[in-house]
Amino acid sequence: MKPTILTATLVLGLVLFGPLLVPDAIAQNAVVQLRVSIFNSSPISPATIGRAESDAERVLRDAGVEVLWLNCFQDAQHEASLGFCSEASFPSHLHLRILRVSRGLKATTVGISFSAEDGKGCYADLFYEPIQQLQGETHASPSVILGHAMAHELGHLLLGTNSHSPSGLMRAHWTREDLTYASKGKLRFSREQSLRITDRLALGPPRDLQTPVMARN
Ligand SMILES: [Zn+2]
Repeated sequence: MKPTILTATLVLGLVLFGPLLVPDAIAQNAVVQLRVSIFNSSPISPATIGRAESDAERVLRDAGVEVLWLNCFQDAQHEASLGFCSEASFPSHLHLRILRVSRGLKATTVGISFSAEDGKGCYADLFYEPIQQLQGETHASPSVILGHAMAHELGHLLLGTNSHSPSGLMRAHWTREDLTYASKGKLRFSREQSLRITDRLALGPPRDLQTPVMARN
């Protein structure tokens, strides 16, 4: 299992490239669908998660992807919903977990995705405390940070290996300026990344073909 880590580097003046701005043309021709199960075991509120999903949804729609969120309960009272929620199928049904903290990662690590040697993976984690820390340091809203981190990690799962880029949503280390762009709805996938994502989703296996990949933690 090969983890790919997103951290935020809050050093002004480090921005060498501006975020890539993608024409809205792709957004108007969304042709592929993605289903994402969300499991939240952090203190972040359902309302914040809902706003984050809206932000991530917009970013993905810009890339040509329509996403269906499954907000999955984790207590015994909602066992009935877990069956559908627990389905995972690469690349059409992915999972995002929101945890309070990471295990053994740097304190600034916002998210991590897990993929196999062939570049396929269904699981990614996001971490509440680094998001809270970023909120305090940048004044970006937690839903903006979380929503774009969700899109970034889904981007890793959909783009495969070596999917970081020097600028834009898939930059490995976000700066304060990146989060300013995010707050304005301008931190996006590049056009090339968008085409790779839609191609991969369009060519993915049927929804009933399971490709199990184990998450690390
Ligand atoms: Zn990353």
